[in-house]
Formats: sequence, C-alpha cells, structure tokens
Amino acid sequence: MAHDHEVAGIRCGEVLERLSDYVDGELDAAERARVDAHLAGCDWCERFGGAFATTVGRLRGALTSHPIDGAVQERLRAALDDAR
Ligand SMILES: [Zn+2]
Repeated sequence: MAHDHEVAGIRCGEVLERLSDYVDGELDAAERARVDAHLAGCDWCERFGGAFATTVGRLRGALTSHPIDGAVQERLRAALDDAR
C-alpha cells in the first residue's frame, strides 16, 4: 500500500487487516481502542472513501446504538476457550 502511516500505534494496513475482526467484535478491548483511535486520528483512513468509509460509518452507528457489552465479550471468549 502506497499510503501506510502510523497513528495511535497502529498502521493503516493493520487497521484494514483488523477491520473484519473489529466488525465481528473479535478484537480485545485494547486493540479495538487502538483501531478507534487510529480512525479518529488518521485523515487518510477517513478520506479513503468507498466501501471502507461506508463500513466505518456503519460501524460507528452500530457501536453507538449497540455498545459492545464487556461481560458478553468475556462470556464469548470463555466459550471460545472451551471449544478449543
Ligand atoms: Zn490510517
């Protein structure tokens, strides 16, 4: 990727790689916070446009209306550990 700079300790490419996990709520709180911080602080990602911007916009709306519950995440993680 021609444009790949670091904001909030995470690079644009890494944000893109994590986006599907982010959407699925599979990132842990620290990683999700880093992605959030990057998106908030990175002009390029904000201007990237197209599907990415649409996805981010949808995400922001979804997260606002349905905040991810920490206890639910913990139970999910425990269930995944059991399944392994
Ligand atoms: Zn970026």
